[in-house]
Amino acid sequence: MITLEHVTYHYDAENVALCDVSLTIERGELLAVVGHNGSGKSTLAKHLNALLLPDAGCVTVMGMDTRDEANTLGIRQKVGMVFQNPDNQLVTTVVEEDVAFGPENMGVPSAQIRERVDAALASVGMETFAKSAPHMLSGGQKQRIAIAGMLAMQPAVLVLDEATAMLDPKGRRDVLAIVQDLHRQGITVVMITQYMEEAVLCDRVALMDGGRLICVGTPREVFSRGEFVREHGLALPAAAQLRDKLAAGGMELPVCLTSEELADAICQYKSVV
Ligand code: ADP
Repeated sequence: MITLEHVTYHYDAENVALCDVSLTIERGELLAVVGHNGSGKSTLAKHLNALLLPDAGCVTVMGMDTRDEANTLGIRQKVGMVFQNPDNQLVTTVVEEDVAFGPENMGVPSAQIRERVDAALASVGMETFAKSAPHMLSGGQKQRIAIAGMLAMQPAVLVLDEATAMLDPKGRRDVLAIVQDLHRQGITVVMITQYMEEAVLCDRVALMDGGRLICVGTPREVFSRGEFVREHGLALPAAAQLRDKLAAGGMELPVCLTSEELADAICQYKSVV
């Protein structure tokens, strides 16, 4: 779906924000990108829809090279981005107008816009808020509207750049449930996140540090390497941390990524003992 080949990017001469990053994002996958602050995640995300162009190497979105200006509009329609701050993404005073903004700019005929807006609002469970004022909504609801605005453009890929970072736990859970739902419907999702509990739910996890892509694998492959993950400035998911403490205390359990898995492992351990 999207290929990065040896991508390097500098904001200024001294600091390299992305260094020789190669990655293939598969059609239909849910990919998490994790890394400590300043590791290059956001810079990577902005390369996926031509907001930034590589200084060296190339990014190809569904066969379109992002460096070719003739492709920019097509790429922006295929790859929808949702950012961290919900307030910066809503541009009108009525929810349904906000969701219609993208397709209107794309020149979609008005009858189709109505259909797309209704479908997009239904996808994020916000259809009853169509006539509401966005500034009256909670952070989580605003992010759901921002996602609906992207869905109304019928993208193939949705990139969420720490889209849950400013939300309360309920807002985070709601947005995450929608992301998983969209993924089940076949949309490719790239989720930049600082929450390892979110990364655990993805098909693959890409770990970044110092502008480099350090490793890519299933959550189990990546988070089984506790020491390695910590060396790159990240904490393991809470269940994996607890499992490590129990193991250090002599309770040998398999790697656990979620509280459910840990509970199962402890119950089985007890019955073996
Ligand atoms: P992350 O998303 O992992 O926090 P970023 O991609 O935002 O990381 O940043 C990667 C590096 O690029 C950091 O060293 C950061 O300070 C630098 N950087 C990010 N944005 C800018 C910018 N607009 N101008 C200059 N340097 C930047």
